[in-house]
Amino acid sequence: MSVAATDTPLSPSVQQFLATDHTMLIDGNWVTALSGQTFSTLNPATGETMCQIPEGQQGDIDLAVRAARRAFDQGAWRKLTASERGKLIWKLADLMESRLEDFAQLESLDNGKPVAIARVADVPLAIDLFRYMAGWATKIEGHTIPISVPNAPGAQFHAYTLREPVGVVGQIIPWNFPLLMAAWKLGPALAVGCTIILKPAEQTPLSALLLGQLFCEAGFPPGVVNIVTGFGETAGAALAAHPDVDKVAFTGSTEVGKLILHAASGNLKKVTLELGGKSPTLVLADADLESSIPGVANAIFFNHGQCCCAGSRIYAEKSIFDKVVAGVADQAKQIKIGPGMDTQTDMGPLVSEEQQQRVLGYLEAGMNEGAKAITGGGRVGERGYFIEPTVLVNTNQSMKVIQEEIFGPVVCAEPFTDLEEVVAKANGSIYGLAASIWTKDIGKAHRLAAQLRAGTVWINCHNIFDAALPFGGYKQSGWGREMGHDALELYTEKKAVCIQV
Ligand code: NAP
Ligand code: MG
Repeated sequence: MSVAATDTPLSPSVQQFLATDHTMLIDGNWVTALSGQTFSTLNPATGETMCQIPEGQQGDIDLAVRAARRAFDQGAWRKLTASERGKLIWKLADLMESRLEDFAQLESLDNGKPVAIARVADVPLAIDLFRYMAGWATKIEGHTIPISVPNAPGAQFHAYTLREPVGVVGQIIPWNFPLLMAAWKLGPALAVGCTIILKPAEQTPLSALLLGQLFCEAGFPPGVVNIVTGFGETAGAALAAHPDVDKVAFTGSTEVGKLILHAASGNLKKVTLELGGKSPTLVLADADLESSIPGVANAIFFNHGQCCCAGSRIYAEKSIFDKVVAGVADQAKQIKIGPGMDTQTDMGPLVSEEQQQRVLGYLEAGMNEGAKAITGGGRVGERGYFIEPTVLVNTNQSMKVIQEEIFGPVVCAEPFTDLEEVVAKANGSIYGLAASIWTKDIGKAHRLAAQLRAGTVWINCHNIFDAALPFGGYKQSGWGREMGHDALELYTEKKAVCIQV
């Protein structure tokens, strides 16, 4: 295992940002928590505290919801035209672009991911999402509907629908792509005219706070975007249960997704959930192995396996199984592990000690049930939360490592003999977020794509995202879709207007 060692100097504005006393954004003001309490955000490469963050709780959420409610019901925001709303979102994207390096560094420091990857993936994708959604602001349309009304003979009607913003939205996001998850949530909600209370994950609040500064700089009216930092059990739960919130949008674990659903039932607020996954990668004997092996390795090891759609189960056809396993293991061994801020790093630490321990627990459970590590299987070093990229074989469908989301750089590989068998195995999961198929036979690819119970099926690729492409889960991987036209619909209500003429 090679260890990278080139340091990226902190940009002066990141240095300054880290040195400030952090506050959170409520009603256009930067405020401390009502309780005065704070919590630490750590650098997962070292375990050291970087800064203190306000610990928002119920009272802070109440203030933020009140601000968002006011901004929605009577604020300047509702008076903006769709075009003005679109321009503001576009302006935000321009400001983000001017701070691209700062965002990339904050993502790397807070989450552990390589800064080189944040520069080309996390930050540009977030900017692109806002621009895509800015364009939609002027295109949220209803329909004219011919109606017949058989019980009103002779009467004439003109009927149409309006798409209106759902209202005040609570958005709760995870730590794996802190900025990008904020963009996926904020972009469509703003495009249709909602107001928002965003709660970032406790592990990674920094990029959301910088984004909050840019919302103010861009000129969004007070109360339209509120950012409350804090813990899920307190701030998050208060937001999900709040009677004045019209919708809650959540990304995170399936377990917490179910809690959100219960919390939301009090006022039957709308709910969308983007939850866990255990996505299969199906490698057929005719696949181009030269490109498929790195592709399948990247499907799991990208972002250290901390992707909800990580390709964490490889099913390779028996005749090529050994070659695929050896190839993926070889890719794993070449991965340079180190602090995300080293530009030579391919894989940084996991986000937290808790996450490292979770992954180690799964590795132990897998070994106890008979799995064997072809490569990896343990932590790296004593400092920071690093885990070796790991390939497990000798697994079967009943094992924890096959059934549960590990959310780390751990992949299980199993052989299969026919397509019926692999479809059953691939679908044999409570999850249905994504899958990929690796083959040169386009007919087989389409047939398999139709049979897989997953919200996204990639063919000869994996982890490809676009602002225009809907993303979300079947089964316990969630409700609703992020991105694309679908996301906008889910932040609107449809009103039918019927006029007797
Ligand atoms: P998590 O608990 O589901 O956290 C996601 C977000 O929900 C965070 O902002 C969290 O707050 C908040 N939250 C936690 N409990 C809440 C509650 N009772 N009410 C409202 N909000 C609440 O995920 P995690 O603990 O960070 O990670 C655990 C596992 O979840 C991972 O190992 C992985 O399997 C899965 N996960 C999946 C995704 C995904 O994209 N599908 C993302 C992250 C994690 P705080 O963290 O700030 O306290
Ligand atoms: Mg952190």
